[in-house]
Amino acid sequence: AQTPTQARSAAYRNDRAHVFHSWSAQASLDPVVVAGASGSYFWDESGKSWLDFASQLVNVNLGHQHPKLIEAIKAQADKLCTVAPYHANEATAEAARLIAQVAPGDLNKVFFTSGGAEAIENAVRIARHHTGRHKVLSAYRSYHGATAGAISLTGDPRRWGAEPGMSGAVKFWGPYPYRSAFHASSPEQECERALAHLADVLMVEGPHSVAAIVLETVVGGNGILVPPDGYLQGVRALCDRYGIVMVADEVMAGFGRCGEWFAIDRWRVVPDLIAFAKGVNCGYVPLGGVIISERIAESFASKVFPGGLTYSGHPLACAAAVACINVYRDEGIIERVRRLGDELIAPALDAIKQRHPSVGDVRGVGMFWAIELVRDRASREPLVPYNAAGADNRPMSEFAAACKQGGLWPFTHFNRTHVVPPLTISEDDLRKGLAIIDEALNVTDRYAVA
Ligand code: PLP
Repeated sequence: AQTPTQARSAAYRNDRAHVFHSWSAQASLDPVVVAGASGSYFWDESGKSWLDFASQLVNVNLGHQHPKLIEAIKAQADKLCTVAPYHANEATAEAARLIAQVAPGDLNKVFFTSGGAEAIENAVRIARHHTGRHKVLSAYRSYHGATAGAISLTGDPRRWGAEPGMSGAVKFWGPYPYRSAFHASSPEQECERALAHLADVLMVEGPHSVAAIVLETVVGGNGILVPPDGYLQGVRALCDRYGIVMVADEVMAGFGRCGEWFAIDRWRVVPDLIAFAKGVNCGYVPLGGVIISERIAESFASKVFPGGLTYSGHPLACAAAVACINVYRDEGIIERVRRLGDELIAPALDAIKQRHPSVGDVRGVGMFWAIELVRDRASREPLVPYNAAGADNRPMSEFAAACKQGGLWPFTHFNRTHVVPPLTISEDDLRKGLAIIDEALNVTDRYAVA
């Protein structure tokens, strides 16, 4: 039962009176007031705590309240809180140097933003000015952010409310072996057919008019879709053939989440631009950006780049990024993610799939996994319809409630739950969280063909 608003804390009352929340009908909200957090847990004002299997919005890669990040932000606050982006400063310069160091190939220059959507906006602007072309291709089942351009590139229902959107945005289907748009029956076939489809889209759109192909290297919010081997190489080859800028959206998949610095490193492909945010500094202070190849940066050597943001390269955010990248490197986080993904999460999810008729597919890499739920394994009918709300979404809301009851905060989207805990989670907590999900899936099994 809900407590009447009057009886709740000032934080709750002020929130309900004055905070306008994202992606929601405001009257339906009943937010948890987060009173504190530490490591892989956060808690409310009554002390009830949850194991954070969503890493908030898949950004607190090093967990909550990491002492080294806090220390770096405090030290920077004492030294220099903010400067205009036309100045240089130590924190921004060091963050850019470290990011260039861990980025693949000749991606050596960084344009900083305050988040992921702005990173995509600026990647698109760079690509358009570099090529002198206008169209931008992006995939269905993708999310690129909620600003005007980024939402137009987004291939999920979040775009619908912003249509008709940016001109020149064109969609294609990416690989998704479990629900193949190409009726493929193997990952190899999916790869080959997805690339042939993309080549066809380019042909009919006119490749000379295409500035960029923007894609999540591993699709995040739309289902942890790991591309089959060869796909990203094939996209790279098409971009090379037609002089198109390849933009890897690594906002969610980058900075260790996939057991690599950037997910694209897994396939040894070097894109022209990388959009990043989230894990670069775990969101302790908002930060994102675009990593730019030398070749593209060169085209702005004497030509003006027409873009900028008051907070580009914000010192507090960049100081947090420096600390964060040093922790990833010095504490072997990337290797740990790869090991736990292969040795703990993959076998645990396989076992969960065996046990639960409502589990249609499990897939992922590193600490980036999805459990896709179905009513019937044979037909693969989704447990809830695409973009379900209200009563239609009941099986998923009951699942989420069971997780929360068990002490775990899940990431759920449509007919999926994602396993995306902090990369620093202890092995015990990881096992505990998977056990809570295992138990909660008994709820979804009730809606599935046994
Ligand atoms: N790109 C991807 C792949 C994302 O997952 C997100 C956010 O979830 C964004 C872009 C947008 O980032 P932001 O919410 O920081 O604007």
